[in-house]
Amino acid sequence: MTQYNWLETIDVSEEMLQRTNQRLPVIWISALDCTGCKEAFLRSVEPTTLDTILHFISLEYSELLSAASGYQAEEHKESIFQKYQGQYVLAVEGGIPQSDEYLMIAGKSVREEIIQAAKHAKAVIAFGSCSAWGGLPAAGSNPTDSVDVRSIIPEETPVALVPGCPPIPEVMIGTLLHIHFHGELPELDKKMRPKAFYQTTVHMTCHRKPFFDQKLFAQSYDDETAQKGYCLFKLGCKGPRAFNCCESMGMDRCIAAGFTCIGCSEEGFWDKGGFYPKKRK
Ligand code: SF4
Repeated sequence: MTQYNWLETIDVSEEMLQRTNQRLPVIWISALDCTGCKEAFLRSVEPTTLDTILHFISLEYSELLSAASGYQAEEHKESIFQKYQGQYVLAVEGGIPQSDEYLMIAGKSVREEIIQAAKHAKAVIAFGSCSAWGGLPAAGSNPTDSVDVRSIIPEETPVALVPGCPPIPEVMIGTLLHIHFHGELPELDKKMRPKAFYQTTVHMTCHRKPFFDQKLFAQSYDDETAQKGYCLFKLGCKGPRAFNCCESMGMDRCIAAGFTCIGCSEEGFWDKGGFYPKKRK
């Protein structure tokens, strides 16, 4: 059962719920991504994605989620730049290749599209570790010369990073809803992440922490120590260094499923082992 209450977390009163009518226009541009962030976005339960789209945000453009495609979709995107100048939010997913040959959308460079869309946006949100830190496309030898979103837009642009691979659906939606209800980005930490969601490590609120404190560690994923729900530190859990609210929200995620935290929201996640945590001795 979730302990998360979105109204409390982003400070929305019943009165605010009643009086806000116009939905927040959102343009979602995908660069080099796996579509995992959009998949996550569709799975919010508090509030549901459906309620969010019907009542609070208007997803005006997304290559994957828009009903329209091709010329029709591109024309609509251009019209939103004009109609909602300074009012729409630009959501960016994926690492951005600096060599345009690696990703063109509708015959245009995705890098230039993001730069243009960011110019008149109320705020830019980097959804996922790829747009926040460069992620998988920028890992290793970085063959596409990919960068994070802040590397290509002016420093003064209001930006929030919502890292994770993928990010937590409620965190993505909570960040958008904060802008909808309060008219500005939520308070950010020094790494530009919304404080309300990234202020503590996964470890500090982990339901297995009492085992950690007693030094009771699982030795493998399928023995008696794992069945008893012992702490996964020895199996390489990165919870002590990962800032995210996976455990504090009270929703079952990686650790509840019996797998270690892989630190997917941290910078350099893919270069530090990605999905394959190393056992500790
Ligand atoms: Fe910390 Fe990971 Fe152990 Fe949880 S499972 S207590 S996050 S080390």
